[in-house]
Amino acid sequence: MDGSKIFELDVTPELLSERGYKKYSGKDIDIYYNKDICQHAGMCVRGSSEVYEVGRRPWIIADNESATRNIEIVNDCPSGALKYIRKSEV
Ligand code: SF4
Repeated sequence: MDGSKIFELDVTPELLSERGYKKYSGKDIDIYYNKDICQHAGMCVRGSSEVYEVGRRPWIIADNESATRNIEIVNDCPSGALKYIRKSEV
């Protein structure tokens, strides 16, 4: 699923906030997560246990991978519970 889009629209912080996504800020990329949409398929944790660690606070630390890798992992999320907004070119 394309993590930069939501219902074919480019994601914005406002749109994601309205739809219940919580922001996890990184230096180059912000990751957004919506727990109500998550299907607990675990693709994110398998993609990077450094970025996604259930039980840690915060459970998502974007800076533990490159922005490029973060985008790949977010796009692998099957439910659309993860989105991203890139802050700088990678
Ligand atoms: S990959 Fe997506 S649906 Fe699966 S656990 Fe992570 S956030 Fe939830």
